[in-house]
Amino acid sequence: MRSAARCGLRWAASLLAPLALLACALPAATDRTPGVPAQAQRGGGPAPQGVVSVSHPLAAEAGAQMLEAGGNAIDAAAAIQFALNVVEPQASGIGGGGFMMIHLAATGETFVVDSRERAPAAATPDMFAPGGVPLPFAVASTSGLAVGVPGTLAGVATALRNWGTMSLARTLAPAIELAERGFRVNRFLAADIAADGGRTSLQPETAAIFRPGGAPLAEGDWLRQPELAKTFRLIAARGPDVFYRGEIAAAIVEAQKRSRTTPAAAGVGRMTLADLDAYRVAIRQPLVGRYRGVTVVGMPPPSSGGLALLQMLAMLERFPIGDVRQGFGFGAPNTLHAMVEAMRLAFADRAVWMGDEDFVPVPKRGLLHPSYVASRAQRIDLARRMAAPAAGDPLPFDGGASKGPLRETAIAADAQEGAHTTHFSVVDRWGNVVAYTSTIENTWGSGITVPGYGFLLNNELTDFNFLPVRDPATGNPGANDVAPFKRPRSSMAPTMLFKDGRPFAAFGSPGGPTIINTVLNVTLNLIDHNMTIEQAIDAPRVSVTSAAGTVSCEGPAPLHTPRIPLAAQDHLRALGHPGLGALGTDGCTATIGSVQAVIIDLQTGRQYGGADWRREGTVIALPRLRPGRGA
Ligand code: GLU
Repeated sequence: MRSAARCGLRWAASLLAPLALLACALPAATDRTPGVPAQAQRGGGPAPQGVVSVSHPLAAEAGAQMLEAGGNAIDAAAAIQFALNVVEPQASGIGGGGFMMIHLAATGETFVVDSRERAPAAATPDMFAPGGVPLPFAVASTSGLAVGVPGTLAGVATALRNWGTMSLARTLAPAIELAERGFRVNRFLAADIAADGGRTSLQPETAAIFRPGGAPLAEGDWLRQPELAKTFRLIAARGPDVFYRGEIAAAIVEAQKRSRTTPAAAGVGRMTLADLDAYRVAIRQPLVGRYRGVTVVGMPPPSSGGLALLQMLAMLERFPIGDVRQGFGFGAPNTLHAMVEAMRLAFADRAVWMGDEDFVPVPKRGLLHPSYVASRAQRIDLARRMAAPAAGDPLPFDGGASKGPLRETAIAADAQEGAHTTHFSVVDRWGNVVAYTSTIENTWGSGITVPGYGFLLNNELTDFNFLPVRDPATGNPGANDVAPFKRPRSSMAPTMLFKDGRPFAAFGSPGGPTIINTVLNVTLNLIDHNMTIEQAIDAPRVSVTSAAGTVSCEGPAPLHTPRIPLAAQDHLRALGHPGLGALGTDGCTATIGSVQAVIIDLQTGRQYGGADWRREGTVIALPRLRPGRGA
């Protein structure tokens, strides 16, 4: 076995050290690197100087400019995030939060900068259900009550200060120019304005930007955001302090007093200047698991992303997912059924056990313990859909005592699916890698634009349980009940894959709870189905986000290639899976997620990207030879 030191990864620091050490026993990387494009040249060509993969070409350009100017992946990530605030404002920005997974080539360390929003000090477990009656989501999520203390700026500034090479002002420059000069609205932004659920017309400041004169911006329209440019200039000049302690803080506190509830007092935000002043980024150790010889590095709590992903992979490893001769392979009924059942089991556990472990113990070891996972996986029967599974009891596998029978609760109902959020990935010439998922929660967040400052506030706090479920009698820990300063449970799942201790893939996706399933689909495509990264992204995905829930799958072909065969859909229907419509019809009509990935060929060192057509995904590979979606 290789020594931990030679593996080049500091897994010993991981909370899951036993799993981590397994990773060091991998065979030398002699076989083909998963995800590498089929036409890739072996050797030759100019030395790679970095790749960015982003959901918008102008934000990709901002990142590429940093790399070309000698910046590293962290510098590029900062510039991309600020530029996305301008060109994809409905999905992320300084009014929100996110998770930046970083791999440092020089030290071999991999960690997460957690800039997830936090609840204010005055938050209470029942704040979304005054008098025990939950507020309607549409009302709560567009009221100040839903606004968490934003973390994105603090997260980016922390990453830059510690691991970047450029100043905050330098990485803000492309975003300032885009906001000031303007850019053409693409069809995705136009579509999100047109189908906004009312969110861009609820508040005058938001409507003034995206519906000037009352008309929604259309594809091709020119969008300038002078107030946002001014805000970025202020931050460039005075640093994050002006946001967390200065004039912007005061404006945020005022803005989140907007309420759409009746009575209005119930929906007023509870954030104070002290909450903004107290906001702190957390640096977290990732979760580490192994799947068919590949080390999977996933997002720890407060996200459920990594835990659920690693659970699903461990459950699926007992099936020959990639083997057509054994009745599996991409799109085969057995494969789809096993995936759906693994998702249902993981989402049942997620509903009870996963949340912000700074506040509630999350039994990570138990949830990922091989014996526990095996006990869950044995419920997957290829001949039938299991009855809706309750959460399991991982406590005996976590070194703790079981507290009693656990039931699934109302919170495990089908979670909202949507195109919220954004994900981008970067690798630089030195081999530093960033996988960054960033959000303001719903598309358009709370719909509240900070007056005079031009950025949207999140509605992240609606990721908490609306009704508290903590119950000592059943042992339900209330992992995702609201508490002061707590971070709401996320599904965001920036993920990296390693072989022989070296990263070869970084990716993630938006999509609320479907994120976890999207990342699972892509992981299986890379490892089991031997797809290139672009094939792995293009392929249709399948998803279910609760134990009892309905299955959704992507289609139709040729948009999603290859299609999920009608015969496979009928097989799922015959097994009793709901959500696919009538026998013989094409029930795969969804669009799920948007994956931006980078790939590093472990044999040649060459770098590639894959981006998603589900948005305007763009790869820029340096030096610039072939700009485009797949480079
Ligand atoms: N609030 C969501 C989460 O953290 C953001 C992700 C999304 O909606 O896509 O899971």
